[in-house]
Amino acid sequence: MKIINSPERMSAWSAAQRGSDLKIGLVPTMGFFHEGHLCLMRRAAELADLVVVSLFVNPIQFGPDEDLARYPRKLDEDISLASQEGVAVLFVPDQRAMYPESPKTRVTVSGLTEGLCGRSRPGHFDGVCTVVAKLFNIVKPALAVFGSKDYQQLAVIRRMVADLSWDVDIVAHPVVRAEDGLALSSRNAYLSPAERDSALSLSKAIGTALEMVKNGVLEADLLLAKLEKLIEMHDNVEIEYLTIVDRNDLTVQPTITENSLLAMAVRVGKTRLIDNSLLLERHKVI
Ligand code: AMP
Repeated sequence: MKIINSPERMSAWSAAQRGSDLKIGLVPTMGFFHEGHLCLMRRAAELADLVVVSLFVNPIQFGPDEDLARYPRKLDEDISLASQEGVAVLFVPDQRAMYPESPKTRVTVSGLTEGLCGRSRPGHFDGVCTVVAKLFNIVKPALAVFGSKDYQQLAVIRRMVADLSWDVDIVAHPVVRAEDGLALSSRNAYLSPAERDSALSLSKAIGTALEMVKNGVLEADLLLAKLEKLIEMHDNVEIEYLTIVDRNDLTVQPTITENSLLAMAVRVGKTRLIDNSLLLERHKVI
């Protein structure tokens, strides 16, 4: 596996591969790899000739009071994990290489970014879209794999690609979970053992919602009231949002349909966790 730090060298490597008609699959990440990231790499390897994984903790997607400075990092272990997955290039640009000057350009997707995580993280999705746009321009992949754990991010990127007529296939990978149901996340590293127990409230809420829907409860308010109680029974939790939205346009839905997505952000202690699930198509890849 090659490790490339400079955007120019990354671009040149990609151009050479495309010249040999090889299809590049990109997996954008912020590192601190877990099984979720590795599943995305494997999916990219199935679909492309060569996999490029970018590892960049993107400062412009963090708010001033967020965890940029303490975001977990373990580059040596990440290098070894990615190389075991047959990744061709780990692209690890530093901040100055990606943003030599403070960027005056942002890519904004309106509408889809206003609710859910966008409400408490103003500017977050502009930062995400801008860095993903730069990565697409540097790597020029044929496809890019994103996790549906960050469902709103996936929807926003899909819309950006469609609106800007970008020739990149966006491939979604389902949420990868620990055995007990907790959605894997680099931020799980912040959790104390007691907090990790409380963090299970998110996946438990999803399980309860699926059960209720299976039993015919289709009224969103009724469902959400029950889930709110269930989550709040746990120690040290604070619900930021808990909602049912349409999987396509992310608007709030009063009644469950085959497009219903249950989405939540919950603070466990100081750690903000998100999770989501379709309510009628549990196993469908989204
Ligand atoms: P991150 O490093 O957290 O920015 O995540 C990089 C990519 O991995 C994003 O597309 C995430 O949606 C995806 N990802 C992170 N955690 C999971 C998970 N538990 N299941 C599926 N995809 C994930």
